[in-house]
Amino acid sequence: MTHTYSIQILAGDGIGPEIMAEVKKLIGWINSNTEININTRDGLIGGASIDTYGNPLDDTTLAQCRKADAIMLGAVGGPKWNDVEYNLRPEAGLLKLRKELELFANLRPALVFDALIDASTLKPEIVRGLDILIVRELTGGVYFGEPRGIEDLGNGQRRGVNTQVYETYEIERVARVAFELARKRGNKVHSCEKANVMESGKLWREDVTSLHAKEFSDVELEHMYADNCAMQLLRNPSQFDVIVTDNLFGDIISDEAAMLTGSLGMLPSASLGHVGSVALYEPVHGSAPDIAGQGKANPLATILSFSMCLRYSLNQGEIADKIEAAVKGVLNSGTRTPDIMADKCNQVSTSEMGDAIIAALDT
Ligand code: NAD
Repeated sequence: MTHTYSIQILAGDGIGPEIMAEVKKLIGWINSNTEININTRDGLIGGASIDTYGNPLDDTTLAQCRKADAIMLGAVGGPKWNDVEYNLRPEAGLLKLRKELELFANLRPALVFDALIDASTLKPEIVRGLDILIVRELTGGVYFGEPRGIEDLGNGQRRGVNTQVYETYEIERVARVAFELARKRGNKVHSCEKANVMESGKLWREDVTSLHAKEFSDVELEHMYADNCAMQLLRNPSQFDVIVTDNLFGDIISDEAAMLTGSLGMLPSASLGHVGSVALYEPVHGSAPDIAGQGKANPLATILSFSMCLRYSLNQGEIADKIEAAVKGVLNSGTRTPDIMADKCNQVSTSEMGDAIIAALDT
C-alpha cells in the first residue's frame, strides 16, 4: 500500500538551498524505490522571505506549514540582513515558526560515528559509540518569562531582568516526550535542573518525579543538577541515554554534547509539538555564508534531520534506518566533505556527498 505524505520545504539562506537539494534527491529516491510517496512544497523563510515579502515568515507560508505532515528547514541569516530591525531579522522567522506551531520539545542527538571519532576533542575511548539524545524545552523558561528588560535606575546604574518561569503543564509535556523516546532507546532519563538553588528547578524535579511515578515507572529516572550534568558530559558521557532539561540549560548542554561529536556539519535536530501536530526538522548549524555557493557544505546534518523526520513524523523508521546506515557506510568508505576531511580520505562536494548516499542506498 502506498503511503502519501506532504513535506513543506523551507531552504532559507546561505548554504540552505545547497544542502536541501541533497534532501530532495533522497526524496526522489524514496518516491521511485519504495511504497512511500512524498510530495514537497517549497516556501521562503529568513532573508529570502525578507527580500520577497518584507518579513522573515509570511502568513501564507505559515499556513502552508500548518497543513504539511512535516517541515524541513535549511538555515536562515547572513550579513546581507545584519542591519534589519531586530524583530524582522531572519532569525525572527524561525522563532515565530517555533512559537506559532508550539514546538516545545527540541531533540538533539549527539551521535559519534566511528569513522569520525578523531574529530572529537575528547579521547576516542571516552566518546566511542556515544549516542545521547538531549530533549530541551523550547518555548518557555527564562527566554520568554516576564518581567524582562533593562531598567535605568537613575543613579548611573541600570538593572537587567529576566524571569525563569515554568508551569506544571510545560514541564510534564516535555518530560513525557523524553520518557516516551527513552522507551524506544536505552530506557533511561536524566532530568537536569538546579533544584538546589531555584524554585522553578524544585518544581521541575517534583513534577518530573510525579509524572514518572504515574506513567513511566518502567523507565529509569535520575535527577542531576545541570552544572554536574555539564561536567559529567565531559567526564563520562556514555552514562547518558536521554537528558531532559529546560530552555536555558538545554541551550548550553546541547551545544556541549553536540561538540563531543566534533563536527557542526553532522548534527541534526527535531522540534516537536503536541502528538500528531506538524514538527520541524533542521540541521543545528547556521547558513554558513563563508562557504555558501561553493559546493563545500556538508549536507549530512540535513540528511540526518530528514531521517529524524521519517522516523518521528512519518513513522517510517525502516527507511530512516536505511538512510542512517548509508551515511555510516559512506563515512566508513572515506568519502568526506572539506569540514570532516581526514588523511587518506576522498574529498567530495556537497552534491557528490548526496550522490554517494544515494549510491549506498542503491546497493
Ligand atoms: P554557522 O553554523 O553558519 O557557521 C559556523 C562555521 O561552521 C562556519 O565556518 C561554517 O562555514 C561552518 N559550517 C556550518 N555548517 C556547515 C556545514 N553544513 N558544512 C560545512 N561547514 C559548515 O554559524 P555562524 O557563522 O555563527 O552564523 C552564520 C549565520 O547563520 C548567521 O546569520 C546566524 O545568525 C545564522 N544561524 C542560523 C541558524 C539557524 O538557521 N538555525 C543557526 C545558527 C546560526
